[in-house]
Amino acid sequence: PLTIGVLALQGGVGEHTALLRRAATHLPSPSTPGDFSFLEVRTPSELAQCDALIIPGGESTTMAIVARRLGLLDPLRQFVKTDGKPVWGTCAGLVMLAAEASATKQGGQELVGGLDVRVQRNRYGTQMQSFVAELALPFLGEGERPFRGVFIRAPVVEEVMGEGRAEVMGVYGEDIVAVKQGNVFGTSFHPELTDDVRIHVWWLGQVVEAARHGGLPVVVGGEG
Ligand code: GLN
Repeated sequence: PLTIGVLALQGGVGEHTALLRRAATHLPSPSTPGDFSFLEVRTPSELAQCDALIIPGGESTTMAIVARRLGLLDPLRQFVKTDGKPVWGTCAGLVMLAAEASATKQGGQELVGGLDVRVQRNRYGTQMQSFVAELALPFLGEGERPFRGVFIRAPVVEEVMGEGRAEVMGVYGEDIVAVKQGNVFGTSFHPELTDDVRIHVWWLGQVVEAARHGGLPVVVGGEG
């Protein structure tokens, strides 16, 4: 089976694992739920067992400090940028996968990188300003109903950098809230806090494709 990891240092871990399990039952055959095993990742050796990884929401500064302390930061960079394995970051996870983050209060923070974008953290303000918005996400397929995007102290992509290798996958008004670059995918919002499995199903489909073709093309550039 393919091993799908959820980075479990902090944040919305269980919600992702639960939705991944459900999503696995929705994949078109020949994929079956038995094709996957799910692993909460806290150590470099657990990461090494993974074919793909979700970095959940939470707090990206804290997550980076904990990752550094556990010796996971460089293995994560290798996983994303050298090995080119599929990785999806939600909210704080998107921040971690950005090449640059412009913080509102904090100064610099360590990032994993992989997406040639700069994110603006806490774009919509504090926890109190959390909201839900109906998003049209073309990658889910034509004529699909909107996806309920849950935004909690959410970052947005404020600039696609470099040669523009990062592809915009979803917007909320003028703001870029979903982005993909080769093996790396990021969303500002939290699909794991809904019961809508569609993005998890889509992403697992990408993971299966990547495995079939022996990995997705690595098109990352900038240092994280
Ligand atoms: N504001 C957090 C950060 O910048 C992200 C919030 C979230 O993941 N819900 O890391």
